[in-house]
Amino acid sequence: MRTRVATATLLLSLAASLTAQTNWFQPDLLKQPAVAKALQSVDDRATGIVDEWIRLVEIPSPSGKEQARVRYMRAEMEKLGLTDIREDKMLNISGVRKGTGGGPTVVFAAHTDTVFPESTPIKVRREGDNLTAPGVGDDTSNLMATLEMFRALNRGNVQTKGDLIFLASSQEEVGLLGAKFWLENSGYKPDMFVAVDLGSNQVWYGALRITQYKFFYTSPGAHTLESRGAASPSKALAKAISGMYEIPLPPVAPGLDTFKLPVINVGMMGGGTVINAIPRETWFTVDLRSLDSTTQDKLATAVVGTAKQAAEKESVGFRMETGMAIDYGKARPQAERLNLPVVQTALATANYFRQPGTPEITPSDVGSTDANIAVAMGIPAVAVGTALEHLPHRLEEFAEASSIVPGIKSLLALAVSLTTH
Ligand SMILES: [Zn+2]
Repeated sequence: MRTRVATATLLLSLAASLTAQTNWFQPDLLKQPAVAKALQSVDDRATGIVDEWIRLVEIPSPSGKEQARVRYMRAEMEKLGLTDIREDKMLNISGVRKGTGGGPTVVFAAHTDTVFPESTPIKVRREGDNLTAPGVGDDTSNLMATLEMFRALNRGNVQTKGDLIFLASSQEEVGLLGAKFWLENSGYKPDMFVAVDLGSNQVWYGALRITQYKFFYTSPGAHTLESRGAASPSKALAKAISGMYEIPLPPVAPGLDTFKLPVINVGMMGGGTVINAIPRETWFTVDLRSLDSTTQDKLATAVVGTAKQAAEKESVGFRMETGMAIDYGKARPQAERLNLPVVQTALATANYFRQPGTPEITPSDVGSTDANIAVAMGIPAVAVGTALEHLPHRLEEFAEASSIVPGIKSLLALAVSLTTH
């Protein structure tokens, strides 16, 4: 009897500790003098943070041309006293804030690039609490917040057990290229990876399957006067694009807010050089996204098949390019990813610091951030954000200035919780 009770008690406490373990954030942490000092220092610098955020937005940083922001980040990482500051050929820059030892190594990654070409006007317009400029949210807010989080840790002299790595990643917007290169080649083997790349009201723990194609149709070309009935890359393009929209899609996956997945999007098209000839070449792109590899593979077969068939029917030449080929073979199952401490702790800190009056944050099994690469490699990963942002990837993009202060505090609580466990 005694043994059975003891066993039952043991099992109960084991179950309790297993569930308790997944969220490592304890609000009491915020009362520790060093942490409290760090958090207070963020409040004290609120105005300066927003001013610097604006300056950072106004440094142009299209993908592959992030040099100016990299120089900025290098100077700041040096001032922070980070060790092992490194740049690589992809324009990633990273530095390490050493822990006292015995804790996990956690990467905080924010990307330096924006989707906007160099010529885009990026002067920030400030109206009330709103900052409007291309790139103000994605991902400059989070780059600013991550930098400030490391500064605040220093100001509070917060000691963590594990190492914290600050990665300012490059070329995120053109296929997560920087993070992929860094995770595969830096030599670091992080225990957890946090992509700081969302709004502060979002926590993502998944990795969208993303496959991107560019299809080309070619012909010898001919004058309009000789074009009647002739094979035409224009016709092939037209048939292929309408075919893309006729591919049957599975029902929209639930619980993803405004996202409707799976999806096939034709985002770019072009070809020809003159009005009075059959073009020698036409092309278009497809961005295919879904939640799981089985669906993705099925739709990918349909997309490529449709594109090829159009070429065969129209008797024109065909070739294709594929981008964003990430192998998710090592990704953990959905339930396991959801219950990872990095995800549950991020959820707890995001909700603790969320703007009063805003809805409770729930985690989404999606992601098209640097965290995808970590998820694909089987590294526990999450994507979070630090400001309330709107209309990313559009010229009208804006963010709520004051929201970054609680966002930075939330990030700091997450960093300390993960690395002192
Ligand atoms: Zn982004």
